[in-house]
Formats: sequence, C-alpha cells, structure tokens
Amino acid sequence: CVCFRVEAAAGGKNQTLTCDVLLVCVGRRPFTQSLGLESVGIELDNRGRIPVNGRFQTSVPSIFAIGDVIAGPMLAHKAEDEGIICVEGMAGGAVHIDYNCVPSVIYTHPEVAWVGKTEEQLKEEVRGKNWEKYQ
Ligand SMILES: Cc1cc2nc3c(=O)[nH]c(=O)nc-3n(C[C@H](O)[C@H](O)[C@H](O)COP(=O)(O)OP(=O)(O)OC[C@H]3O[C@@H](n4cnc5c(N)ncnc54)[C@H](O)[C@@H]3O)c2cc1C
Repeated sequence: CVCFRVEAAAGGKNQTLTCDVLLVCVGRRPFTQSLGLESVGIELDNRGRIPVNGRFQTSVPSIFAIGDVIAGPMLAHKAEDEGIICVEGMAGGAVHIDYNCVPSVIYTHPEVAWVGKTEEQLKEEVRGKNWEKYQ
C-alpha cells in the first residue's frame, strides 16, 4: 500500500491519497546542459528548452533543433516528424507541422490515447470570443 501527497501545480487543494501501486511518469526534462550552447550564443527558455522559429532554426541561423530539446510533447513520433520536416526545409521545401495532430498515449491496460485539444482548452480559447454563440 502506498500513501502519498499531491500538490496542485496551478491552484486547487493538496490531497493525500492511498493506492496499491504508484507509477511516477513526470519529471523528464530536455538534455540541454553541457552542450556548449552558451558558447555559440544560444540561450535556453525558462524550462531549459532551445527556442526555435517555424523552420526549427535557433537564434544562430545555421543551427537547427528538433525533438525533446524544443517545446512541445516529448514523444518519438513528434521528434521524428520534426527532423524530417526540418531537413526538408533546409533543402528548400515547405515547413509545416500541425501539433494538433500529434497523438499521445499512455501504455496502461486498457490504453488511454488522445489527439487534438481538450474540451477545456477549446472553451478557454473561445472564452471572451462570443462564447455564448458556441453553447
Ligand atoms: C523510458 C522512455 C520511454 C519512452 N517511451 C516512448 C513511447 O512509448 N512513445 C514515444 O513516442 N516516446 C517515448 N519516449 C520519448 C522518446 O524516446 C523521445 O521523445 C525521443 O527519443 C526524442 O527524440 P530526440 O531525437 O529529440 O532525442 P533522442 O532520441 O534522445 O536523441 C538524442 C541523441 O543525441 C545524442 N547526444 C546527446 N548529447 C550529445 C552530444 N553532446 N554529442 C552528440 N550526441 C549527443 C544522444 O546520445 C541521443 O542519441 C520515451 C522516453 C523514455 C525515456
């Protein structure tokens, strides 16, 4: 039996929970330290990620970054797509990736998967923009 306390990251009250098994699946972070980025003038954002523009170009135009070290979900298929599109862009192709189409999955049994925005995100986006019209 595992007893643990959770603290809400953005408001809400703390809770003490008890369960049989606890799976901790948070805490991954970009591996951007000790790469010497500061020596070429690339600054990290507040979460240690490398800022890039729409073509995956860093603040140093000849250096590109994709995958876990930039913003977005830390998923293999996201990194793979970014890598392909980034190189196609370098070769003069169009650069477009729709992050709404990147699926996420939790390998529980049964599996949980989702794609696109949540109901809450959509409501938040249209709030203040004639939200009544959509209800
Ligand atoms: C335990 C675990 C399970 C996961 N399961 C899933 C899953 O089921 N599905 C999913 O979509 N994603 C999963 N992921 C996430 C997925 O592995 C990453 O999102 C993906 O590998 C990111 O790709 P990337 O190319 O950005 O980085 P990486 O795949 O980490 O590639 C970075 C490469 O750079 C190399 N490198 C680092 N520093 C240097 C250096 N100084 N010089 C030269 N080379 C260097 C590293 O050795 C590595 O080969 C999992 C991750 C972990 C840790």
